[in-house]
Amino acid sequence: MTAELPITVVADEQQVSREAVNLMAREVLKLTQPIFVCVQRMPEGIRGEHLYVDAEGGYHVIRLSDKLGDEQRSCTLVHELTHAWQAERYGVGALKQADREYAYADNPFEQHARKAAWLGTVLRLDRNGWKEQVTA
Ligand SMILES: [Zn+2]
Repeated sequence: MTAELPITVVADEQQVSREAVNLMAREVLKLTQPIFVCVQRMPEGIRGEHLYVDAEGGYHVIRLSDKLGDEQRSCTLVHELTHAWQAERYGVGALKQADREYAYADNPFEQHARKAAWLGTVLRLDRNGWKEQVTA
């Protein structure tokens, strides 16, 4: 059994379920810090973002654009959860340093999160959790 750690989802239940985030974050990625996920209006061209807040013991804030289709939203959530994993694994200082040292597209943490995001194409997130997508 994994400890029940706080996951807060601020979104239409049709889009993201707390259980689906919990499964990916706790069972698969083994994240240990609280996570807040918000589906909200984002600037044009921005699908999502991850922010690690170094206060109150530390927690993750993940924002997802409300303009995404199911597959894009799933891929973006996996992408941002990968950044959360990186922050816990390597420390948020390593991520910030990479942000300064590399152009966005060349940032190894970005490339890593982009590779992981493919999972959203085969596991689709909805209010019932992660669903296999099998396409011919
Ligand atoms: Zn990213």
